[in-house]
Amino acid sequence: MTESYPKPFIVNGAGIAGLTVALALAAQNQQVLVFEKAEGFEMLGAGLQLSPNAMHVLKALGLEKRIDQAASAPESIEIENAVLGHKLVSLPLGKSIKEKFGAPYNLIHRADLQDILFNACNNHPNIEVRFSSEVIEMAPHGRGVTVMLNEKGETNELQASGLIVADGVWSKLRTEVIGLDAPEYSGKIAWRALVPFERGKTENRTRVWFGPKSHVVSYPVRNGAFQNLVIITGGPESTGKETVSADANELKMLFKGWKGDFLPMLDRKTKWTGWPLYEVKTPNRMAYGTVALIGDAAHAMLPFAAQGAAMAIEDAAVLATQITVCETVEEAFRTYEKLRVPRVSRVAKTARANGRIYHMSGIRADVRDLGMWLMPTRFLSARQNWIYGWRT
Ligand SMILES: Cc1cc2nc3c(=O)[nH]c(=O)nc-3n(C[C@H](O)[C@H](O)[C@H](O)COP(=O)(O)OP(=O)(O)OC[C@H]3O[C@@H](n4cnc5c(N)ncnc54)[C@H](O)[C@@H]3O)c2cc1C
Repeated sequence: MTESYPKPFIVNGAGIAGLTVALALAAQNQQVLVFEKAEGFEMLGAGLQLSPNAMHVLKALGLEKRIDQAASAPESIEIENAVLGHKLVSLPLGKSIKEKFGAPYNLIHRADLQDILFNACNNHPNIEVRFSSEVIEMAPHGRGVTVMLNEKGETNELQASGLIVADGVWSKLRTEVIGLDAPEYSGKIAWRALVPFERGKTENRTRVWFGPKSHVVSYPVRNGAFQNLVIITGGPESTGKETVSADANELKMLFKGWKGDFLPMLDRKTKWTGWPLYEVKTPNRMAYGTVALIGDAAHAMLPFAAQGAAMAIEDAAVLATQITVCETVEEAFRTYEKLRVPRVSRVAKTARANGRIYHMSGIRADVRDLGMWLMPTRFLSARQNWIYGWRT
């Protein structure tokens, strides 16, 4: 069992992955420096579903109460046919999932989760978060890693015990410094909006509509003040941008004649943003000596299992545990990679397979719908056990 390392761990990126790993390492008595390129946090993204596997980690970090205050636990997930407007199945969440897995299934605004994590980091004596700064070069060696930092235009060299690359799907450290493959564009776009609602007028459930080459997900966030709406459609042949602008009227044209009752939400005035979806096709490298990759920088995946952030949170817990139980940072990161690659690969594969099922058309969609009607709900729910039942 290793004591505290003499030099700090450096985390590049203060997203869900970076802030969670900082907290998990600090909880093991390590010193952590987090560098974030942005000047501050923006209200980026929208809703997040936080499944029990992720909630267990956040609970162990002492964040359950604060998350419960900002989040809601949906009673059920309703799956419907977007074209015909028929309900296919209703799977219980809420109390039953908390009893089964010992942690809730929560809905939260991404910015609220990031805020909770950031405040916890700020209040921890072992963690320092610095904005307008980024790691631009690194050289792992036997005693740790030498890192070149760009902070507000100034370049500095730092020595660390290990570097954790947590700078998301567009990570330059991943592609340009380590030389790993760049995430590939999936040809799909996620159109996201927060539709304002009068409090109490939203339903406390997650709804998913399946349609040809598209699907729609909707659930309440911020105590029902907004309905988080995500519409997945095919996108242009190529993109290269993080986000693209969107127009609700153009989206409505795609669903002409469909009966799914998400459609009236497209008439409400709100801002839409398109997120081209990228994925790391083979997420098989998560460690290079004293450098580890976590979250989307390691294994960006399609959001069709709602598990990208959950995997980042799991990564953080496993990495911090290995730092404590292994003799060296190199050994800890190597073991972390060995433990995480099969899990994240299987979840990414499931997300891809979900997409194929959600987007079926014609006779295949009819067979899918019939199967869902006939299958007992406990069998459909049990398909998630291996994901939600995970523990560190
Ligand atoms: C439509 C959609 C719906 C989703 N729904 C869910 C869901 O319901 N549940 C779920 O678990 N997941 C979901 N996800 C996935 C989830 O959002 C991501 O997997 C998760 O946010 C990844 O976190 P991260 O910290 O790895 O990356 P990010 O959140 O991208 O954070 C990276 C951070 O690094 C910073 N950064 C970037 N470059 C640099 C640099 N050079 N130097 C320093 N800092 C840098 C960024 O500013 C940012 O703060 C969804 C994704 C999408 C697109």
